[in-house]
Amino acid sequence: MAGLGLAAHHFLWDGRRPGQVPPRVPTTRSPASTVESPQDPCHQLYRMICQQSGTTRDPSGTVRTDRDGEQAALDAYRGILEEHPGLEPEQAEEQLVDAIYTPRRTQRVRSAFDWAKDQLEKFIDRQPEPVFSAREKRLLKGQLHHVELQLPPPASNYEDEPDLFTKNGAYYERVDEGRMRIRIGGAYLLSTDSWFNLVFTLAHELAHSIDPCELRALHLSLPAYDRLGACLMQQRVVELGRERHECADNDQLSEAFADWMAVQVVAKGLKHFSTEFDRTQLRHAVRNSVRDLCDQDESLEELDLTQHPSPEVRIEAIFGSHPVIREILGCPKLIPLPGPLLGLDRACDFSKGMNP
Ligand SMILES: [Zn+2]
Repeated sequence: MAGLGLAAHHFLWDGRRPGQVPPRVPTTRSPASTVESPQDPCHQLYRMICQQSGTTRDPSGTVRTDRDGEQAALDAYRGILEEHPGLEPEQAEEQLVDAIYTPRRTQRVRSAFDWAKDQLEKFIDRQPEPVFSAREKRLLKGQLHHVELQLPPPASNYEDEPDLFTKNGAYYERVDEGRMRIRIGGAYLLSTDSWFNLVFTLAHELAHSIDPCELRALHLSLPAYDRLGACLMQQRVVELGRERHECADNDQLSEAFADWMAVQVVAKGLKHFSTEFDRTQLRHAVRNSVRDLCDQDESLEELDLTQHPSPEVRIEAIFGSHPVIREILGCPKLIPLPGPLLGLDRACDFSKGMNP
């Protein structure tokens, strides 16, 4: 989710890419402002969410830019080295981990992880029998159940990739048969404490454990997934390049799926708070849910658009088409999206296209 600077070199043992995030380029934008965006969320959701530069706040916390998070992590590391010039690199790393992965922050991430996992399981359980059979539900929930959230300390938990302490992002990977884990970059912990963003991020990563490509690697195929995938392609949420091969390295299906599942989860959270927050607070919570999906540097050059749909598609077509998000924003049910998304009459789901 949040930008992961070292994205490109994490691969699953079987060669498939993990559920990782696009590398993001540093931004040189102005510091935080508190100007409320005047954009109409029903037609310009991307602008409403992404237009404001710098830190954004909702009642649960803030989302800072990827660059701010990385800078804070590097500053912390520099501070440790200056204060203790004689430290061995491993000792300095241990101190950095203690400074970043504090009990308060890790507890917050763990509770968002638990909540997201529970909501994903409930979402699967709520699907009617024609969508998922009892066996399919057991299988999907079993996958989710086995995903571990692996956080330092100790620093040695990430000894195979110490760069992660100063990077943004979270990623999922299958380590070996039946063992799956999610890791979280230190810079992400420093940049984000919005509960809504944590929930979206962790739900997205968790969803990778049951994404279509992960199931394919396990030699499983589900008719409901085929329907959802066909809908995402029909609505051009998943780009259909001439060379598209399902689940190949340049395929966007699993990322679109993970976003789509994460939206189901965060929509529940937003709905829950919709009676406690006023309208402005609720819009801020909506914004922070997917705030880090914004293109953070105007230029698309360094954004990874091979695996991920564009930020605009992720925010407007996947996030913004969810009925609850639209209801919260006061938008009509029908979705008058521009350009290639014209004619999107209803959000994709597991039953769309099913014979009545
Ligand atoms: Zn992903």
